[in-house]
Amino acid sequence: MDAAIALALLNWVIVDADSTPLAARPAAGVKPNIYGFSLPELEEALEALGEPGYRARQVMRWLYGKRVRAFAAMSDLPASLRETLEVQYDMSLPQVARADVATDGVKKLLLELSDRELIESVIIPAKDRLTLCVSSQVGCSMGCAFCSTARMGLRRNLHAAEMVGEVLAALGELDHPQEVFTNYVFMGMGEPLANYARLRRALAVMTAEWGMGISPRRITVSTVGMAPVMERLLAETGVNLAVSLIAPTDAQRDQLAPINRRFPLAALMESCRRLALKRRQRVTFEYVMLKDVNDSEEDARKLVKLLGSVRAKVNLIFFNRFEGVGFEPSTRQTVERFQAMLHKGNLTATIRESRGRDIAAACGQLRVEGQRGRTDVGLRVAAR
Ligand code: SF4
Repeated sequence: MDAAIALALLNWVIVDADSTPLAARPAAGVKPNIYGFSLPELEEALEALGEPGYRARQVMRWLYGKRVRAFAAMSDLPASLRETLEVQYDMSLPQVARADVATDGVKKLLLELSDRELIESVIIPAKDRLTLCVSSQVGCSMGCAFCSTARMGLRRNLHAAEMVGEVLAALGELDHPQEVFTNYVFMGMGEPLANYARLRRALAVMTAEWGMGISPRRITVSTVGMAPVMERLLAETGVNLAVSLIAPTDAQRDQLAPINRRFPLAALMESCRRLALKRRQRVTFEYVMLKDVNDSEEDARKLVKLLGSVRAKVNLIFFNRFEGVGFEPSTRQTVERFQAMLHKGNLTATIRESRGRDIAAACGQLRVEGQRGRTDVGLRVAAR
């Protein structure tokens, strides 16, 4: 994306971060989706319909405890209330339009939303964890030069109910009904903090005892650097934060991530120092390694200096090529040498192996334009 356009869009999305309408407020004539409601809101809505407020907790138990997919299945509610709910509320989830499984077990879901827009979610199994990578927007306006999603531009923000629905749809793809994810990362399509009001609402449903009951410690939200919103996120939700840093100087970062012109590194680091971190909590800095762009020994030294005053750990990520991109991944030897220099500078740094690359499910590869009906040779494809 042209940098000037990206910057103009940034101005818009940053305003939108504070003014996005809430998910429970649908367009005229459209039924509100029940997955966007908090317990107090549903209590209030049911009372307005002449029902006792305690019914709301029963409904939530069916939605998130038993995970039924129809109001008719809520067998301890009076039949009249089930009918009222059916008339008043939408209960649909994003539909799994396609599921691709990579040779390393990573599963990419193509999800279709009610307006036929498409997003991707990725299930990443590992020895001791099962992670879901969640999307927060259809496309993205941030224009990062190393990311395939950026090529789509921003089509729209996801509603809170759609993010919650994305998680429920992915849970439905696991082998056993009792199986759950150990970790949730908002690192799919989109910049989550550019859709903050709806993200916060989705996180509330995910972490509430009346909702999914997921510990905030198991959730990580990744941003490319929306500094002021980062502080609100940590203060208001208690989840973990990852910052996609990409480069240790403004000159490099301006080229790779246009948001840096709005929030340069000094402002970003200042926000990181002010974050309401819990004891032993650290900020994860994601660093995509680009050959001859940000992978020199000098870059490593600058990174050590930059992060010296922040409670930080660094994830070094292999760049995943996609069509039409002008970058190359750093060699393994370079990445390991870079890591060793960070260690020497007393920074915790891990190398993140690329997963799901053969189905374009790896970091920075999510993009859904024209994917309906596409068939990848050599993949196990379960089309629905
Ligand atoms: S890296 Fe993240 S913020 Fe940047 S364009 Fe891609 S999805 Fe958007």
